[in-house]
This record gives sequence, C-alpha cells and structure tokens, in this order.
Amino acid sequence: MECKCGGALIDGKSSYSVSKKYFSLIFEDIPAFKCTRCDKVLFDEEVVDKIQKLVNRVERDVKEIVSGAPSTNLYDY
Ligand SMILES: [Zn+2]
Repeated sequence: MECKCGGALIDGKSSYSVSKKYFSLIFEDIPAFKCTRCDKVLFDEEVVDKIQKLVNRVERDVKEIVSGAPSTNLYDY
C-alpha cells in the first residue's frame, strides 16, 4: 500500500469521524496508515466499510428518533 504522493505508509492508529445531518460519530484508535511524506492518514477499506455499515444503522435509528415514528411507518424505506 502506498500513498498517492508516492510516500511510504506506516501502521498506526487514528480517530475516524463521521458527520451526518443529525449526529456525529467519532471512532477512536482505529487502525490506520500514515504517510511518512505528506502525513495523510489512510484507512483500511475493510475498516471503512464496517464503520459505514454501523453509521447507516445508527442513521436509520436516529431518523426514527428525530421523526418520532417507527421506521416501518416511513415511506422512504
Ligand atoms: Zn503521502
């Protein structure tokens, strides 16, 4: 794995934050790669995928809370 700038990546950990309309999530100590040249932090695709699924699930529940109705009664599902 290599950064777009061509720099080498080193293993490390970083926080990963997601901002959505009704909430923000910050994940800490997520395995990440850091570029030794430009300091860009990259995350494993698999890890991002897992986080994304979690975010989607939370988003669904948050919409339910915000709307005050169970998601089964919403027509956009
Ligand atoms: Zn780089």
